[in-house]
Amino acid sequence: MKEIILLKEGEIALKGLNRGTFEDILVKNVRHRIGSLGKFEFKRAQSTIYVRPLDEEIDLDEVCQRVGKVFGISAYARAAVVSKDFALIRDKAIKYLAEDLSAAATFKVEAKRSDKHFPMKSPEITRELGGALLEAFPHLKVDVHNPDVTVLVEIREVAAYVYANKFPGAGGIPVGSSGKAMLLVSGGIDSPVAGYMMAKRGLQLHAVHFVSPPYTSDRARQKVETLCEEMAHYCGDITFHCVPFTEIQEALKEHCPEELFTILMRRLMMKIAQRLCAQQDIHALITGESVGQVASQTLGAIACTDAVCEMPVFRPVIGMDKNEIIEIARRIGTFETSILPYEDCCTVFTPRHPRTRPKLEFVEQAEAGFDFEPLIQKAVENTELKVIKLN
Ligand code: ATP
Ligand code: MG
Repeated sequence: MKEIILLKEGEIALKGLNRGTFEDILVKNVRHRIGSLGKFEFKRAQSTIYVRPLDEEIDLDEVCQRVGKVFGISAYARAAVVSKDFALIRDKAIKYLAEDLSAAATFKVEAKRSDKHFPMKSPEITRELGGALLEAFPHLKVDVHNPDVTVLVEIREVAAYVYANKFPGAGGIPVGSSGKAMLLVSGGIDSPVAGYMMAKRGLQLHAVHFVSPPYTSDRARQKVETLCEEMAHYCGDITFHCVPFTEIQEALKEHCPEELFTILMRRLMMKIAQRLCAQQDIHALITGESVGQVASQTLGAIACTDAVCEMPVFRPVIGMDKNEIIEIARRIGTFETSILPYEDCCTVFTPRHPRTRPKLEFVEQAEAGFDFEPLIQKAVENTELKVIKLN
């Protein structure tokens, strides 16, 4: 049987003159995500991308699973392709939708017709098909407000499409349409969610993770790579940077006031992240900070951190409660990995009494007491790069 996947464009359908560019990126992202499952042909019309499988054996359930996580799609459906003849459409609907309709108590039909040569208008198609389905499935009742199943018929230029129910897509705009950003990713719950949220707004992610062996283990690093893999279902390929941070943390411990350790460490992380950005045409940072969550996320601490940043720092979870962040982490599949109990370099040498209202002036003074520049350069030079991609 001939089937096709319909991808309904979300926000990008409203993009005016730039729309084609957004669509190109979306098609490229979908192609990249499902290409390993077989060959497909892509066509666009009426704010829909028609994905036609070219091999019989392609697993369409898996295709749907994958496209459901590609940003830029508001809804998707799997449909039967039929010739534009009402009798054929009716017979196909009865057969193709039998399982859905047998399990439902109520239904409605919606028809769309962009091919104005088709002899029936939409209300007539709706009425006739509704009647035929009631005859074929006598247990059904029509409910136009809240049906168990919505049967959709689209009469388009090339063919007619019949399907039951659209599934909600991942929303957002296509990854890559807003440029690139560097996510500071820890092994925690918040930063993967922050990355997901910004990728949803079209940013292509690079990730930077700081490690402090032997204080942090290889398993801790592996956990963060796993988190990036889990994020890649939504965010696409992620270029992962692993920065050796031990020497810097040891220098901090030795040469700076203990109560400023965390804030100085965060400033150094931001500096290094920006050096990595400069090498790769990246113009924004992303963190998983949320106001007041820990000592380094007070207003004063954030101000001291931002003072070393020369590019926008996006903190999409800044106003969210932990519960709200956890809800997203569970939905996108990062939560279970995030709660594995491995140490993060942030938890190495944590001060007993961190300053919650650090004054920038004192922070800068403390930082100037030691020349971190050679260590920063060394850390950047020894950063390991790896592209994290699926299949
Ligand atoms: P998360 O759940 O993301 O770990 P958190 O609540 O544990 O956040 P912190 O440990 O204070 O908060 O870290 C705040 C932010 O700093 C993180 O969201 C992340 O963006 C960044 N960060 C923390 N540790 C690291 C690390 N080892 N490498 C890179 N970035 C980090
Ligand atoms: Mg953390």
